[in-house]
Amino acid sequence: MQENTATHSRNTSADEMNQPRERFDAIVVGAGIAGLTAAWHLKRTGVNVALIESRDKVGGSIDTEHRDGFLLEKGPFNVMVRDPAFEELLTGLADRVKVVTASSRARNRYIYRHGKLNAVPTGPIKFLCSPLVSFKARLRAVRGLFFSARGKKEETTIEEFAARRFGQEVADAIVSAAIAGILAGDIRKLSAYACFPVLRDFDTKSFSPMGRTVRRVPSIMTRSRNPKKRRQWKGLVSIDRGLGGLCDAIAEEIGPNVRTNTKVEAIQRDRNVYMLRAIGGDGPATFACDELILATPVQAAANLLEPHLVQASSTMRTIESASLTVLNLAFKKEDVAHPLDGFGFLVPQIESEFPLMGTLFANSAFPHHAPSEYQLLRVFFGGTRTPDVIERDDEELIETARKSLYDLLGAKGEPVLVDVCPYPDAIPQYYLDHIHKVEKIYDGVKQLKGLHLTGNYLEGVSINDCIKLSKKVALIVAERCKSQK
Ligand SMILES: Cc1cc2nc3c(=O)[nH]c(=O)nc-3n(C[C@H](O)[C@H](O)[C@H](O)COP(=O)(O)OP(=O)(O)OC[C@H]3O[C@@H](n4cnc5c(N)ncnc54)[C@H](O)[C@@H]3O)c2cc1C
Repeated sequence: MQENTATHSRNTSADEMNQPRERFDAIVVGAGIAGLTAAWHLKRTGVNVALIESRDKVGGSIDTEHRDGFLLEKGPFNVMVRDPAFEELLTGLADRVKVVTASSRARNRYIYRHGKLNAVPTGPIKFLCSPLVSFKARLRAVRGLFFSARGKKEETTIEEFAARRFGQEVADAIVSAAIAGILAGDIRKLSAYACFPVLRDFDTKSFSPMGRTVRRVPSIMTRSRNPKKRRQWKGLVSIDRGLGGLCDAIAEEIGPNVRTNTKVEAIQRDRNVYMLRAIGGDGPATFACDELILATPVQAAANLLEPHLVQASSTMRTIESASLTVLNLAFKKEDVAHPLDGFGFLVPQIESEFPLMGTLFANSAFPHHAPSEYQLLRVFFGGTRTPDVIERDDEELIETARKSLYDLLGAKGEPVLVDVCPYPDAIPQYYLDHIHKVEKIYDGVKQLKGLHLTGNYLEGVSINDCIKLSKKVALIVAERCKSQK
């Protein structure tokens, strides 16, 4: 069946058409990190671009609040420096933001298992001595490091991949905990190759994870010796003003064409020009552009595209997202018995009786997140294991968190600061078949000249992935704008 790409005239009334219309070469809808990055690159290449955001501030999921000397990251907490596009963004914003690297203590991580926190082993010897999994499971995992079966199917779940390579116990206790921290999802349903594309090549070609690592050593060494290729930042980073500060800095560079409090309600298309009907603080408004980038969450993009791309839009609707609620709780240092000497702890799926998905020791990783006499803890509830988290009462979540932290960390007394932030449908779940779904979405979008998509439901959920994809999209759009001039 063909997509409906005809000019769409529904909802067009004389009144709307009479609204003042602003015309841009390109418009980006949605000012999360994906939309901000796309608009930033376009602005730098000289494109007349506007960025339209429904909320009263930019950042989307990224939301930093400064309160009583604390820096509260309500959503994303840090970024792993992985892609050159992220480094390019940081370098480009060097006058506006200061990058802060996570403290060395953040290298220690814990997993909740059997009622206590267990250190995640950082090397093979420590792993062999770790009580996280049985001795038999440890031997199985070490054997898998040197020799384990390749993937034979086009797709595989994270659980199947991890169990085949390192044994079921490691998949259940360690991999599942790590995935809770990254995707808040279910390893039995998530696609290993869609979530971590590098795994596809490795899994289908190599018998030995260790052998592959050893083979890569010379190229890593060459890169680290080459000053041009050497990374300026390594590991986990944040920003002195928090990740919200990064988003504000990007918006400052884009300038007055960032329109917050403006929700795009419908898209019309007339002779290759996109017309956006929006509702803003000052009432309805229309915007026109040749190139349109949708950088909204998946369901919002599906709604906007439905009249134009029926199939692509219905495929988008099948992408589920996990909800979570983040609590920031601050305690006086003397009220927490645990040394909090690490990044935090994560809880695997099999510990289904334990109510939290994980907790980060915020100022152990980034000391600037709290005054020195306090401990700031970021507690996560929800993910696919607790889908009703958004409906739960704040007081109940605070009480549950307090009790769990008391038992595990010896955190007593009243927290001096409490913040509860719900994130409904915030983390897309790349289940089996995600790769095909994305191909179908892109095939549909190709039929509408000048339409482009970016965002966390396409090629990776992390901030790095969103930045990388948005840069790619922006360069395509910039080229098209240039060729139209
Ligand atoms: C609690 C939490 C913690 C996370 N932690 C990390 C982390 O530590 N590190 C990491 O790398 N990743 C993390 N992630 C993942 C990552 O932060 C997100 O995937 C990423 O920020 C999503 O960016 P985005 O721009 O695609 O979408 P969003 O941030 O959702 O932005 C989309 C924007 O579109 C706007 N919008 C929607 N509809 C319209 C409309 N009709 N008109 C105008 N605007 C509209 C929305 O208001 C929103 O601002 C975390 C995610 C969550 C939820």
